[in-house]
Amino acid sequence: MSERDTFTGKYLITCAGLMSDRVVRMLGLTPDFTICPFRGEYFRLASKHNQIVNHLIYPIPDPSMPFLGVHLTRMIDGSVTVGPNAVLAFKREGYKKTDFSLRDTAETLSNPGILRLLAKNMQPGLIELKNSLFKRGYLKEVNKYCPSIQLEDLEAYPAGVRAQAVSPDGKLIDDFKFLHTKRTINVCNAPSPAATSSLPIGKHIVGLANEQFEL
Ligand SMILES: Cc1cc2nc3c(=O)[nH]c(=O)nc-3n(C[C@H](O)[C@H](O)[C@H](O)COP(=O)(O)OP(=O)(O)OC[C@H]3O[C@@H](n4cnc5c(N)ncnc54)[C@H](O)[C@@H]3O)c2cc1C
Repeated sequence: MSERDTFTGKYLITCAGLMSDRVVRMLGLTPDFTICPFRGEYFRLASKHNQIVNHLIYPIPDPSMPFLGVHLTRMIDGSVTVGPNAVLAFKREGYKKTDFSLRDTAETLSNPGILRLLAKNMQPGLIELKNSLFKRGYLKEVNKYCPSIQLEDLEAYPAGVRAQAVSPDGKLIDDFKFLHTKRTINVCNAPSPAATSSLPIGKHIVGLANEQFEL
């Protein structure tokens, strides 16, 4: 897939993350889901806190909420990050708070499934937004299980954007989702822990291709 080059092939496998619904539409299919982008923002702790934890520390999950909540992670370089939160993004590939796309926002806010989801989760959604805008709120979440962290300990760190498929009735699709045609396999929803399980997912896709394509 490129705006500059054209490729010809007998079969197509797509794994387009935040663009998976659009790519599926380009194939002439009508997806039964929409991608809702959720930015996940992090901070890195000041290096004097590199020894503050030895392992991942998670908050107790709320099973009614889609994401795990801000957690402490020891990175392989020895630093410690906190995050990610989950804030509705106004641009699909919008990694900065100020990123905005009229097309993406209009598509998100006019989708009945996403509107239902937002209506159902209005309060936690607004709290996440407030904590994203005001670092002190974010700190409060971290202090629940790491009370010694101060505001000045939270240093800037890059964010990610989750590609979350939402069904027309306003539910987050928790499971992996694939759409097939005779000559294509499309990974439409691969939420966390899809990075951790990328090798088994890759094997699964190869299995599907072997079954489905005349190779
Ligand atoms: C903040 C955050 C924290 C996470 N934490 C974890 C975790 O702890 N553990 C875990 O397992 N997972 C985690 N995940 C989830 C994990 O990142 C995803 O599940 C995984 O990346 C999905 O893989 P994918 O290949 O489907 O999509 P992606 O990794 O999004 O890859 C899609 C690729 O397709 C490209 N693309 C899209 N459209 C086009 C096009 N038209 N033409 C060409 N290229 C295109 C994109 O540029 C991108 O490179 C996290 C995600 C976020 C955002």
